[in-house]
Amino acid sequence: MTLDGHLQARLAAREAALLYRQRVTVESSNQVDQVAAGNPFVNFCSNDYLGLANHPQVKAAIKAAVDEAGFGSGASHLVSGHSLWHHKLELVLARLTQRPRALLFSTGYMANMALVTGLLENGQSVVGDKLNHASLVDAAQLACANKSKSSFLRYKHSDMADLERQLKKTSAGTLVLTDGVFSMDGDIAPLPALAALCRKYKSYLAVDDAHGFGCLGPNGAGSVLAAGLSVGDVPVYMGTLGKAVGGFGAFVAGSEALIETLIQFARPYIYTTALPPAVAAGNVASVALLRDEPSYRVRLQENITLFKAQAKHHLASLEGVKLLPSDTAIQPLILGAEKRVMQVAGHLLQAGYWVGSIRPPTVPVGTARLRITLSAKHTQQHIDGLWLALAEALKVTEYDR
Ligand SMILES: *Cc1c(COP(=O)(O)O)cnc(C)c1O
Repeated sequence: MTLDGHLQARLAAREAALLYRQRVTVESSNQVDQVAAGNPFVNFCSNDYLGLANHPQVKAAIKAAVDEAGFGSGASHLVSGHSLWHHKLELVLARLTQRPRALLFSTGYMANMALVTGLLENGQSVVGDKLNHASLVDAAQLACANKSKSSFLRYKHSDMADLERQLKKTSAGTLVLTDGVFSMDGDIAPLPALAALCRKYKSYLAVDDAHGFGCLGPNGAGSVLAAGLSVGDVPVYMGTLGKAVGGFGAFVAGSEALIETLIQFARPYIYTTALPPAVAAGNVASVALLRDEPSYRVRLQENITLFKAQAKHHLASLEGVKLLPSDTAIQPLILGAEKRVMQVAGHLLQAGYWVGSIRPPTVPVGTARLRITLSAKHTQQHIDGLWLALAEALKVTEYDR
């Protein structure tokens, strides 16, 4: 069989399973009011939770940096790619997260690959929450496959008794991985309990705060500081810059020894080009805004409260539809069947609302969902309108569940 023949069979199977994914081309900037495929939409699926991706001060910072630094960084950080702009961003991130140092990465995916593969040594194991982000899962699998006597164990979502069972199977020095805010469920990890168990079993806790950094905690410093935990409790903190920061990139923050170890041993840090300096400058401007201006988080919180109040009202008479108990910007509406998720999302698109359709393998089979994300930039009108359209779409598709 030709390669294409082989691939076409795979693609056909994917399509038959209603799991085929398609991209939509956006024709405007990333804002709450967006144009895609020629139509205007209200976006309820972006991770730009604070609406900073289009902030005039951020744009101005990037333009100014381009004039000074040009476009590309030209090399990896360990060659000649590490600039003053990167350095400044690392200092800002370390100070905000109250950690000795921070280290920049090109993406969150790479930061997770780097921290797990860079820290793990022969004989050390990894234990992760079953609902962790794909990048943490991939990182753990890769790291353990390349070490002798290292295993990757998973515990039931946020289940501390199950985590303890897994920790009993491993020796001291296990790396415990969790999302701070779970990306598909929106709930916050039980960080104090996780830190206590890690202490008891002499294990090291790493928190991926892609959805908490910027939104939670003092000055947006994230879920770990929101839980009152220090670098002693959570030695490895990872945050991304492509979500609430509205930019691009990621970082790991922790002790001097942690950061130096990653610089020496983490291949996804070493063997890749540094971010463009202007991207670092844009991130600095954006982090300064969210750090110094609580109103973005206040507006987001108001929208979360409004959305949940509306949900209670509209879902009261509907069966088989469940909003997960989330207090964050991620509000998942579980519909169960892939087909219904696609139908409801299609109705919403026609009404001018764009929400995420999340299906297996991203989430467990039988929990296909609409992933609705809120932004500080949504108005009451946007949220009212979404719920009216959603209630209508859920009624129309009731018999297809
Ligand atoms: C988005 C996300 C990542 C990946 O970050 P990128 O910068 O987009 O590569 C990692 N972990 C979690 C929990 C995420 O939601």
